[in-house]
Amino acid sequence: MAILVLGGAGYIGSHTALALLNAGRDVVVADSLKTGFRAAVPPAARFYQGDIRDRCFCDSLFEREQIDGVIHFAASSLVGESMSVPLRYYDNNLGGTRVLLESMTAHGVRDIVFSSSAAVYGEPERVPISETDRTLPTNCYGDTKLAIERMMKWTASAHGLRYVALRYFNACGAQPGGRMGEAHDPETHLIPLLLQVANGRREQVFIFGDDYPTPDGTCIRDYVHVCDLARAHILALDYLAAGGESGAFNLGSGAGFSVLQVLEEARRVTGYSIPAQIRPRRAGDPARLVASADRARAALGWVPEYGDLRVILQTAWDWHHTHPDGYGE
Ligand code: UDP
Repeated sequence: MAILVLGGAGYIGSHTALALLNAGRDVVVADSLKTGFRAAVPPAARFYQGDIRDRCFCDSLFEREQIDGVIHFAASSLVGESMSVPLRYYDNNLGGTRVLLESMTAHGVRDIVFSSSAAVYGEPERVPISETDRTLPTNCYGDTKLAIERMMKWTASAHGLRYVALRYFNACGAQPGGRMGEAHDPETHLIPLLLQVANGRREQVFIFGDDYPTPDGTCIRDYVHVCDLARAHILALDYLAAGGESGAFNLGSGAGFSVLQVLEEARRVTGYSIPAQIRPRRAGDPARLVASADRARAALGWVPEYGDLRVILQTAWDWHHTHPDGYGE
């Protein structure tokens, strides 16, 4: 029996596929390669190219392979883009998952671990954020993730689907060893942008706002290492296989770092000055997002191993430094 990783050519998906293989699992990866990279897929995984909105494609996966669990990363994930082309996000994320769930149900595949996001909360009522706190997304991307969580809930009660939704905070870092890492085009995330400046690919980084109600005035985020995220997916599969109850789990380190703290650490790790300029706030950025991951700790036994910001930046730098053009495709 194999685990199907949808979107396994993307950043978190490829790290999860590798973690599964390292744990001795049989792995099937499917990806449309619209934003993912073929070179990111670990060679030991069987690969299929296709789009989950295509029912025939989904059906063929479940017919050709013996799948006993699905990990679902296949989605559009750029917050800014989701605001300018919202219907594309509903089509790809919501529409794709609907087709997937229909195909899973038809083939008797019950367990799914879904890649959700802290974006489901929107502006938090309090920090650290718990799973029971208000969910009121402030962007279309987060709204599609929340809608998918609801779609899984109703499919669970009607058809016996069993699911875990993992709500990631700020995914970052790279597989130690520098062979696999974060590659987006366009890049919008803070840590890769800082490292692109260190690499000489950009002249400077812009800091979006220094007038937030935080100690240094810049936004605070909970940075969680991609290898810790990858491990959480395996724990979630095991949890479902052991009869665990369906539900949502936050994945964050529980520590918050400001943009300026991340900048300082990036300067230390890379040895480059990394010029930065203060700019106005970016629309929709809450001042502080920090997870309570108590539920994941209690139910899944998940404890992040890479909480140290220096280690996060070091692993990311090992990748960016040796792969300035990402996967070069
Ligand atoms: N940020 C920034 N400059 C950039 C990109 C991001 O100051 O060029 C800030 C952003 O305002 C946020 C933090 O860095 O407070 C993390 O942003 P990122 O886009 O990496 O992740 P997000 O928190 O939006 O998921």
